[in-house]
Amino acid sequence: MIRTAFYPGSFDPVTLGHLDIITRGAKLVDRLIIGVGTHPGKVSTFSDTERVEMLEAVCTGLIEKCQCDIEVETYNNLTIDAVNDVKATIILRGLRNGSDFDYENQLAGMNKELAPDIETVFLTSSPKYRHINATLVRQIASMGGDISAFVPASLLEVIKQKCLPT
Ligand code: ADP
Repeated sequence: MIRTAFYPGSFDPVTLGHLDIITRGAKLVDRLIIGVGTHPGKVSTFSDTERVEMLEAVCTGLIEKCQCDIEVETYNNLTIDAVNDVKATIILRGLRNGSDFDYENQLAGMNKELAPDIETVFLTSSPKYRHINATLVRQIASMGGDISAFVPASLLEVIKQKCLPT
């Protein structure tokens, strides 16, 4: 049986914290689908295409390393429906702190009610990435701050340029 997990998020932009969860999650399953949420009404700094392309760029090297098939997709429906669409049985989420836990615990409980056969699996953030938050990364970058400790090096310039006010 092929084990598939779905990792949903905004990834606006992808950070080293996300990448840590992707790398560790990919070691647990055969197929990992990264679901980029594109909900109408939720304004993002990076376009859907940019968010997908950034994730694809950083995941290319991981596929071989983790022996997992990693794919990136957009979705704009209910997460649980997107999970079913790709025939995943696991929702992968990252936990940084107590606030993440409170929110994620509630979300997992509601998703369990909606789809009892799907399990949410949490990975706690690696200590060196625990503080990273995509919104704060955008804020720091928009004011010309150094974000090199928070985002993949290969995406640093793209992210910096996009976040600077025009
Ligand atoms: P953010 O909360 O930074 O805007 P997302 O909404 O894209 O990011 O989050 C998608 C998932 O990734 C969530 O499960 C979130 O808890 C997790 N995540 C985000 N940043 C980190 C991090 N630094 N370490 C571990 N998990 C993270």
